[in-house]
Amino acid sequence: MKLLFPVFLFFAVHIQEISAQARKETPNVFIITTDGFRWQEIFNGGDPALMSNTEYVEDTSLIRQLYGGATTEIRRQKLLPFFWNVISQSGQLYGNRNYDNKADVRNFYKISYAGYNEIFTGYADPKLVPNTPSNNKNTNIAGYFNGLQEYKGKVVAFSSWNIFPYILNEQQNDFPVNSGYENFPATDSVMTTLDRVQDSIHDKTACRYDILTFLIAKQYIQQQHPKVIVLSFGETDEFAHSGRYDKYLQRANDVDRMISELWYNVQTDPFYKNNTTFIITTDHGRGKKNNTWPAHHLFVKGSGEIWLAMMGRGIEEKGEIKTAGQIYQNQIAQTIAGLLGEEFTANHSTGKPIELHPLTEQDKYTWKQSFNASK
Ligand SMILES: [Zn+2]
Repeated sequence: MKLLFPVFLFFAVHIQEISAQARKETPNVFIITTDGFRWQEIFNGGDPALMSNTEYVEDTSLIRQLYGGATTEIRRQKLLPFFWNVISQSGQLYGNRNYDNKADVRNFYKISYAGYNEIFTGYADPKLVPNTPSNNKNTNIAGYFNGLQEYKGKVVAFSSWNIFPYILNEQQNDFPVNSGYENFPATDSVMTTLDRVQDSIHDKTACRYDILTFLIAKQYIQQQHPKVIVLSFGETDEFAHSGRYDKYLQRANDVDRMISELWYNVQTDPFYKNNTTFIITTDHGRGKKNNTWPAHHLFVKGSGEIWLAMMGRGIEEKGEIKTAGQIYQNQIAQTIAGLLGEEFTANHSTGKPIELHPLTEQDKYTWKQSFNASK
């Protein structure tokens, strides 16, 4: 029996090393989208002319109190505090055309199905798929990861819009895509309650309330610790189409807060802490003029202009990118694969990964320290 202690110790240390190594090699990613939210509001905050326009805003003075301000810096910080207090310090923000830093879609159509297809498959499909329930034949990054041994059964998607099961081809890819007002199999009293809330909503549309999408996702994430998470909000686009600039800003402000809460939960959960990357973007832009902003499609100028925010593991703290440059939506999928240490292979071409500046030795040291501390 005397021998057992050192043997046990050896295995205990060894197991700890293996699990640390395994965790390092299989990091986690959250791919978060908010539908049709313009780069103009991300980087400039609420537009003063639109916030004062009674055609689009019910109470212009209250909206200006909430989101107005003398400078773009004040306005954007009021509208999106997580983006401009946290991501701007600890992550990267692409697409501020005031600095000639451009992010664009590659697809012709500039509508949602085409945009989400391009984000998740890395392929700007020349074929038009209207926003209808038709299964996507292209290979998507979430399905690809679900096919890898390390990520099998650890991939999940939650969306407000009910077309996501087709865009991500849930049928073929065999990972859960919870969309629209679809109930989630109740695993505890919280999920049961959320299902009941969904059942009680009478005016169901194609787009679920974002708060419900968020609460279901949050509960699942806390319990199941998935490693690749797609979380897609939809209300920003809904209110823009109905010409409600006040509601469009309020929903964007909600999305910012929900992302903030998720990030806080991630950084206080040993499973995710310092081993998780957030990728946040949108499927398309919208009209750039004060009378075209509610719309987006092929013929509305500005509809192809998007933005991209990234933060977490593997992302250098560069903040807002203020140099001229160009990235495209079809580069996002391969960038995500690179962050997870993989190359994404698909049944079609894919955009090349965005050049992420490698971590410096100091960054690696700091990351290792915080990683060890979190064990
Ligand atoms: Zn739309």
